[in-house]
This record gives sequence, structure tokens and C-alpha cells, in this order.
Amino acid sequence: MATAARVDLDGNTIRPMTICMIGAGGFIGSHLCEKVLAETPHTVLAVDTINLAAICTPADYNTRPLDTIYSNFIDALPVVKYCSENGKRLIHFSTCEVYGKTIGSFLPKDSPLLKDPAYFLLTEDASPCIFGPIEKQRWSYACAKQLIERLIYAEGAENGLEFTIVRPFNWIGPRMDFIPGIDGPSEGVPRVLACFSNNLLRGEPLKLVDGGHSQRTFVYIKDAIEAVMLMIENPARANGHIFNVGNPHNEVTVRQLAEMMTQVYSKVSEEASLEVPTIDVSSKEFYGEGYDDSDKRIPDMTIINKQLGWNPKTSLWDLLESTLTYQHRTYAQAVKQATSKPVAS
Ligand code: UDP
Repeated sequence: MATAARVDLDGNTIRPMTICMIGAGGFIGSHLCEKVLAETPHTVLAVDTINLAAICTPADYNTRPLDTIYSNFIDALPVVKYCSENGKRLIHFSTCEVYGKTIGSFLPKDSPLLKDPAYFLLTEDASPCIFGPIEKQRWSYACAKQLIERLIYAEGAENGLEFTIVRPFNWIGPRMDFIPGIDGPSEGVPRVLACFSNNLLRGEPLKLVDGGHSQRTFVYIKDAIEAVMLMIENPARANGHIFNVGNPHNEVTVRQLAEMMTQVYSKVSEEASLEVPTIDVSSKEFYGEGYDDSDKRIPDMTIINKQLGWNPKTSLWDLLESTLTYQHRTYAQAVKQATSKPVAS
């Protein structure tokens, strides 16, 4: 238990708080709970639901758009209302998907402007939110998240709600999502870290959707949680702000991620990698009708640097090494057992 007095970024003593955490059993919530309980005197009121706090896996956005919109918008409404009406501070978890596509994605592939950050850098108070057409149901999530952000912002402007909005940029690490057929449905499609982990655990090639050209920046969950702690303990600096939380230095294409994960997994499992480690698959085959993709996501870090002095520390290689060590230790045996079971006649 932490007993030493904690001070905020301005040197003031932080008084113990009671934090109501919705989704405390999920990926982000469990890491946040762990840190708050180990390092602070704060009390956590942990709340969770069977379907977690909200749907946040792209495979669901186009196949379960109603559940996606209800869980991310409608179900969040009473929480926002409660905070506004009772003078409670709200830290709301949104997503980098609210930015949608970059302006640069509309330029010709060989345009020199693509190198200009003005065409791709995602900035909280300046970048537009660019989504595809309604029939591309992939954007149901981004749109629901954007509307709840706008509602929270309006509650702040009209009713004085104290809020902070967090936009996670591909936070990854242990306990993210599930391994299909082991601790989740065998036909389920988690996000890319768990999809690729599953392929590696089963000795199958990693599937590259539409060539694996999309780019992502990945940040280690433990780095990101430090940013959230700063928000919790520095309300004067965090209130009224939207923060990108990501690692602009960890950018790769999905294809590069597949190559790196293959190398790292071979190292941590001490197993040789496949001769053909990846295969191509179309998005329609993999996700079904209505899928679309974000092309590139680099967070502008100016606001979070200025307000909270936060910077991520962990390189992509290092975060993959600790995460895949966890995946191997947690799942390798279970996968081996599941795949060696005789087929029931
Ligand atoms: N992807 C892939 N193979 C997989 C899973 C995902 O190529 O087995 C791609 C997906 O099409 C997207 C990227 O990886 O371009 C990241 O997908 P993820 O589901 O992690 O979420 P997103 O970053 O799109 O929210």
C-alpha cells in the first residue's frame, strides 16, 4: 500500500479520491486498477458488465452496428448526465478513430504532399473527423464516439461539466482482447495484436488484410496508463481537454508489424518461424461487407506534452517482447491442448 503523500505536477498534495471505474475488468480498466491500487491511496469503485463497457473491436463495427452504437453512445448517456447533474468530474475514454481517415488519404499515392504533416498529423483541436459513407458500417463506432464527445463537450460548455476526453491510439499489451477458441469464441475476430498472437501460437501464417498497407502507431499499455494517472491526479491541468495518448515514434505498416511479431515470437518461444509467415486476405473475406480502414494514425503530442508533460517510453520491439512473452506463457499450453484434442465422432 502506498502511504507517502503524493504531489501533483504543481507540487500540491493530492488528496485521496474515490474513483468510479466503468469497465474495470477490461484491458485498460484492469491495468488502471492495478496501478491505482498499488501506487496511490485512492479508492476504486470497480464496475463492469458482461459485455464490457463498450464494443471496441473493428470486426464488430460492421457486423454488429446496432450493439456498437448502443454501447458506445446510448449506454454512455446516463453516465454523462449523472456527472453533469451531480457535479462529478468525468474522464471519458474515446478513440483515435474519431479522426477517421487522414486528409492525405485523398491525395494521389505519389503526391509529395503526403510527406507534409499537415496532411496526416492528427491534432485534437484542429484535425477534421473524416468518415466513409453510411453503408461503410465500419464508421458506426467512430460516429457514435464522436457524438458522445460532442455531447460531453457541450455539457462542459453549457452546464459546466468538468471533463477530460482520452483518445487512445492503439494501446497494446498483456490482457488485450482474447485468443479465439481459448478465452473467447473460436469464430471471434479480436484486434490485430490478438489476431497475430493467435496465428503465432497456432503456427499459422499471419493474415494481412488488403495487403497490410495501413499504418498504425502502437503504444505500450503501461506507458498509456501513466498518462491516465496524470489526468486523474492533475484535474486543473486536464479538465476541459481532449488528449491524444499514443506513441508517434512507434509507427509501422501492418505488414511490418507482422514481420516484427514473427521475429519477436520466435525469440521468446524459441521456435523457428514459418517459411511463409504471412498470407494476403481481402477485407471482405476477413471482416465481411461494410468494412473500411483508417489509413494512418500519428498522434500530435503537443497538447499532452504542454498540459501534463507526458511522453511514452517503450519502443515497439520492447513492448512486443514483453507482450508476446506474456502471450506465450499464458496461452501456448492451452493452444497445444486445444489443437491436439481428438475430433469427436
Ligand atoms: N489487420 C490485419 N490482420 C488481422 C487483423 C487486423 O491485417 O488479422 C489489420 C486491420 O485491417 C487494420 C489493422 O490491422 O488495418 C489494425 O486493426 P485493429 O483491428 O487492431 O484495429 P484498428 O487499429 O483498425 O482500430
